[in-house]
Amino acid sequence: MVVVMLGAPGTGKGTISKLMSEYYEIPHIATGDLLRSYVNDNKKDFQIIKEYMANGELLPDIYLNEILEDRIAKIDTINGFILDGYPRTIKQAKNLENILRKRNMRLNAVINLDTPDEEIIERILNRVICPNCGSIYNLKFAPPVVEGHCDKCDGKLIKRDEDTEEKIQDRLRIYDEETKPLIEYYEKENKIFKVLVSSKTKMGKEVLKDITWYLEGK
Ligand code: ADP
Repeated sequence: MVVVMLGAPGTGKGTISKLMSEYYEIPHIATGDLLRSYVNDNKKDFQIIKEYMANGELLPDIYLNEILEDRIAKIDTINGFILDGYPRTIKQAKNLENILRKRNMRLNAVINLDTPDEEIIERILNRVICPNCGSIYNLKFAPPVVEGHCDKCDGKLIKRDEDTEEKIQDRLRIYDEETKPLIEYYEKENKIFKVLVSSKTKMGKEVLKDITWYLEGK
């Protein structure tokens, strides 16, 4: 099963993708994580990539396509995967279709996570991540047991450079302009399921329940 996760930064895409990955026992492929580890390994063009990421801007496709295709080609995707952070443009959606076609796979569903902007900003400002294992914490709503340390691997938790209020506003604007058109694109294909993720309604595991209900009916 191949599932694409859509949603502005801070909607809980990473957290919910991880829950889905555990539930369905298929890998969670997050392009942001792939790129962060690529940059950490100082691979080709890492400086340029780092700059785009630090500004919260979309990376030109030439840098990302190969990294993504190589990741999807790994053996662990044989039963599918959860794709988080890709596609972000219609062009990328078409590229994904090509990659899947080459591998005799198809996109089963697109989950569109929706959260009010004020809540997104508050969440991102309180977000810390573990650079070692990718775990995500919220200092207000889901803090680690030991301050500053990852519950899972004891890595030192950090704030991402791009998680400042100004950069969040920029990323939300880029999301509206570049990524929102994808919702209509996938609606036409009848593949999209919209879920509201909010501390006032549902978060985390409760959202997972709704998503699995939808996917099982597919
Ligand atoms: P967030 O969802 O918090 O914006 P991600 O971890 O998904 O962050 O991505 C971090 C950065 O990596 C993005 O701001 C962008 O620079 C780059 N990136 C990730 N995925 C893509 C993509 N599909 N297309 C272009 N750039 C991307």
